[in-house]
Amino acid sequence: MFGSFRIGSVAGIPIRVHVLFLLLVAALAFAPGTGAFQLVALGVLVVCVVLHELGHALVARRFGIHVLDITLWPLGGMARLSHIPESSRVEAAIAIAGPAVNVALALVAAPLLLLQVFGPARDSILAALALSFVVVNVLMAAFNLLPAFPTDGGRLVRAWFGRKRSWVEATARAVWIGRVVAVAIGIAGIAWGNWMLPVVALWLWWTGGVELAQVRARHAQGLVPTGGFTDADLARIESFRGPLRALPRGDRDGD
Ligand SMILES: [Zn+2]
Repeated sequence: MFGSFRIGSVAGIPIRVHVLFLLLVAALAFAPGTGAFQLVALGVLVVCVVLHELGHALVARRFGIHVLDITLWPLGGMARLSHIPESSRVEAAIAIAGPAVNVALALVAAPLLLLQVFGPARDSILAALALSFVVVNVLMAAFNLLPAFPTDGGRLVRAWFGRKRSWVEATARAVWIGRVVAVAIGIAGIAWGNWMLPVVALWLWWTGGVELAQVRARHAQGLVPTGGFTDADLARIESFRGPLRALPRGDRDGD
């Protein structure tokens, strides 16, 4: 990804940060009113984003997909995969893994929060940190599960349609629903005076269209990625996806 550089790696997966992400973090860190608490909360937020993406990445790797890297940029994190197989089962498993990490983190922190709120030895700073940790993770899971393709929720929608339809049609439907949701997000942002949301909406609208165009182009060329599967997986996919069967085996390389 242009303008990004590597800061380390987790489980053999390079973690990269984009220059724009650094600028955003710097702007927040040096903003008036930012104290030690806000800095710690910001650091925790970044760690949660990385863990969310690691959830996607590690599940993708289990399916034999090569994870290029995890890149942090202003709108969050992004696990870049060598390809996304056209399989509802694989797509759904990878998509749900990210929000599942956030739900797990919130559940782990919930007892600490309860202890701080109701326990005998209360610490208001620890309680505030635990509360923001739980809220951040619940919000991250909720936002990513919005059916605004290419969000995780949008990918679950495509996986749902992909069970019975061609991948092109499933993607087109997921993108259509995603754009309706994106418009709603944009309008809500304008109504609330939150100018970040219309930017997110535009980004969702655009990237959904880009991915649909990519899927269409791939199918027009007969390049349907099914790599990284065992033969049993492939047989299962082929049993409900007719067009794949028509492709000669040598043409099934997605990379
Ligand atoms: Zn995600």
